Amino acid sequence: MKDLTMEKIVNYCKQYGFVYQGSEIYGGLANSWDYGPLGKEIKENIKRAWWKKFIQEERNSFGIDAAIIMNPQVWVASGHVASFSDPLIDCKACKSRHRADKLIEDFTEGKETGDGWDNKKLEKFISDNKVPCPKCGKSDFTGIRQFNLLFETHMGVTEDSSSKVYLRGETAQGIFVNYNNVLRSGRAKIPFGIGQIGKAFRNEITPGNFIFRTREFEQMEYEFFCKPDTDLEWHAYWKQKCLDFLKEVGLKEENLKYRDHSPEELSFYSKATTDIEYKYPMGWGELWGIADRTDYDLSVHEKHSKTELRYLDPETNEKYIPYVVEPSVGVDRLFLALICDAYDEEEIAEGDTREVLHIIPSLAAYKVAVLPLVKKYHSEKALEVFNDLSKHFMTTYDESGSIGKRYRREDAIGTPWCITIDDETINNGTVTIRDRDTMKQETIELSKVIEYIKERINF
Ligand code: ATP
Repeated sequence: MKDLTMEKIVNYCKQYGFVYQGSEIYGGLANSWDYGPLGKEIKENIKRAWWKKFIQEERNSFGIDAAIIMNPQVWVASGHVASFSDPLIDCKACKSRHRADKLIEDFTEGKETGDGWDNKKLEKFISDNKVPCPKCGKSDFTGIRQFNLLFETHMGVTEDSSSKVYLRGETAQGIFVNYNNVLRSGRAKIPFGIGQIGKAFRNEITPGNFIFRTREFEQMEYEFFCKPDTDLEWHAYWKQKCLDFLKEVGLKEENLKYRDHSPEELSFYSKATTDIEYKYPMGWGELWGIADRTDYDLSVHEKHSKTELRYLDPETNEKYIPYVVEPSVGVDRLFLALICDAYDEEEIAEGDTREVLHIIPSLAAYKVAVLPLVKKYHSEKALEVFNDLSKHFMTTYDESGSIGKRYRREDAIGTPWCITIDDETINNGTVTIRDRDTMKQETIELSKVIEYIKERINF
């Protein structure tokens, strides 16, 4: 929808039960959000779609579910304890805190990202360009210090440094530490991939833009292990696969673009990194990162754990540490993109608009709504139909209000089909099925409804 604002999306999500403010009755907790009944369904459908594409349909692909709290040495080895940090800068005038690179990115409207710049370079750019504080407008900042994003907690009854553990900052490390296990138990052969979906935690300096940047979020990460020097080819493969997936789940092509990281931005171990960005209401933002991580992760874990993480090639008898290509996407950012992309307010007659969510049927919260035309006469049959359909799909039932109003409500929450139960159903075994997008109605046999819907759902 043109001119869609984040405020509109936040209100819409709250009104219909997609996403609520976290801990709302206690005044909320800054930037924490809870998924409501409809949001939970869509989120599960997104995860199912990803799992199908990346685990089920890929040959040599394995899924795992690792622990959130891991041995703290994992995070020492991966480099997170030393350098998983963002440049923190304070406004001297109003005392607000900011991420220096994001200040620059917002100030230059995305022309400079500040990614990969050292503190000196960031400070110089801010002072040379008199970058203003977004809160008070003054340009009077402290120097930059690095702020570590890992959440710390303690395990067990004592709270000293020996009991310190971290909430995982990404799901990827759970995959690397299980590389040997999956290789052995899955009898895997290079190239192969391991994927995982789960929560990650980052003490972000400036969370915001609804569920775009939060301190607790979900990731769908995939680590693809390949032979050294085939990594760039595989990077190209996964870049394409991720973009195809986003189009398949319904995102409009014009709202998606690749952004290749410049050599300056690239992590020291990466040969290539590409972000797929989505055009959110606040502007283009990273949705999916596809990074060629070379042999960095397995090498550091091999060194720190003193456990061999090499692959013995059965054909050449060569032993090597595999290279890794990592496509990593946030469930919440994808959820937000899907809602923004699908939401519309359509004028359907003069002075008459409807709210509609054109989300693809496979991802919709409810696949079908069962609506008795007249409660008094048709609800008994309608409930029978609900009982049948709900064994196959998420089905909703609504008997209150005029049929027109009920259709509108289903349009607004993205239910692709409404079936109306009337005298014809009772006498002839037929129902009217209404399509959310075209608003056209057709009569089909009740016994064909399940097949009709199944044919139109692919995840
Ligand atoms: P950004 O530059 O926006 O902070 P990142 O490059 O640090 O993101 P990655 O570490 O590559 O992100 O994480 C992979 C994916 O996880 C991102 O592409 C994004 O979809 C998601 N993600 C990362 N941080 C957050 C967050 N704070 N809230 C929600 N999703 C996130």
